[in-house]
Amino acid sequence: LSERLSGVFDRLTRQGALTEDDVRTALREVRVALLEADVSLPVARDFIKRVQAKATGSAVMKSITPGQQVVKIVHDELIATLTGEGDPGKLKIDNPPAPILMVGLQGSGKTTTTAKLARRLKDREGKRVLMASLDTNRPAAMEQLAILGTQIGVDTLPIVAGQTAVQIAKRAKQQATLGGYDVFLLDTAGRLHIDDVLMDEVQAVRDVAAPRETLLVVDGLTGQDAVNVAAEFDGKLGVSGVILTRMDGDGRGGAALSMRAVTGKPIRFVGLGEKTDALEVFDPQRIAGRILGMGDIVALVEKAQETLEVEQAERMMKRFQKGQFNMNDLKGQLEQMMKMGGMQSVMGMMPGMGKMSKQAEAAGFDDKMLRRQVALIDSMTRKERANPALLQASRKKRIAKGAGLEVSELNRLLKQHRQMADMMKKLGKKGMLKQAMGSMF
Ligand code: GDP
Ligand code: MG
Repeated sequence: LSERLSGVFDRLTRQGALTEDDVRTALREVRVALLEADVSLPVARDFIKRVQAKATGSAVMKSITPGQQVVKIVHDELIATLTGEGDPGKLKIDNPPAPILMVGLQGSGKTTTTAKLARRLKDREGKRVLMASLDTNRPAAMEQLAILGTQIGVDTLPIVAGQTAVQIAKRAKQQATLGGYDVFLLDTAGRLHIDDVLMDEVQAVRDVAAPRETLLVVDGLTGQDAVNVAAEFDGKLGVSGVILTRMDGDGRGGAALSMRAVTGKPIRFVGLGEKTDALEVFDPQRIAGRILGMGDIVALVEKAQETLEVEQAERMMKRFQKGQFNMNDLKGQLEQMMKMGGMQSVMGMMPGMGKMSKQAEAAGFDDKMLRRQVALIDSMTRKERANPALLQASRKKRIAKGAGLEVSELNRLLKQHRQMADMMKKLGKKGMLKQAMGSMF
């Protein structure tokens, strides 16, 4: 499949510009890729439409091929769709004891996932966790959770025969409060299919437990079906997040995309095996790669990104070699630094800059400062940026105000620029610039 995709993109590569037809051809293959990854049809269609609009509207970047550009747009859009609000790994568990309700169809992996989550909360966050099985349908279900509890060293609510799910939920809440637990996880019963009995029961449980999180556990291999299940559960219960299980299998992860597109609910975790440590925080990047067929596509995207950066760096370098270094150049530098993980790491890479990097650290240079400096440069006119020596006191005041900062900060930036411009000149003369820049880009 990814071969077929690369084929189309290779064909695109040989053409100069990106026409609407090119985009359409490429996207036809992307659509097939999505469907093969088990993305539901309407979701795939919708996704393609969005990308088509974006791709056709965007100007072709110079040094990457049109094909690479389409891949990049597809990839970026996938990640944007997959990404939910907030940190997926962070559960609402303040205000102890915090109830977490686990719901889903039978066999989706609820009980296993309950144990996985309990283990994670205990080991990673040091929480005191209680688990309770409300599965009164299958006699072995409560046993199953108790055994898992023993394995991972997490308490389970003692089993009392003959109680209803609601009664058990009440008891769990009591026990969690009395026992000083931080979190209690309620593992509910599932059915093979959604039915009213199941929904009524879970709703009643939800009403007594008042969960901080209602997590829907869905089998990631079920594709299209998973979406219907999610929509139903969310409509009836109000789900706060989704956990996709069996993502260790052969499935291509399309359920994740459908889930996000249809329910809008954040995917919080993925299950990657039967063991209690096989749970990971959802990573949109990884799933996006998987949906597209992985490896070469992701490499293509990275290459495209790299090429763009190199092109930029080369342009800058040419100017520096001529001893030119204005405010725009400085801005480019500052932005590059932010992208590359901040001041310290960049300076550390440049020869002879190690000492300066330490001084910078001592002087309180940090990434916030980089952003403030970029804001200052943004408030200058084009002429001023090209020749900062033009700046009069009154303009300086206005610029600082425009960026919401003090004039002293602007003066500091101007001084820094002068020093850097001087250095560029010297380095340029000695031919050392290439060397220094080489280690940076
Ligand atoms: P429940 O009926 O929803 O409680 O489902 P269970 O937790 O009992 O899980 C059903 C089966 O799926 C068990 O055999 C689990 O070991 C298995 N299972 C659960 N999660 C995963 C997963 O992420 N990957 C794999 N490969 N198997 C899983
Ligand atoms: Mg179960």
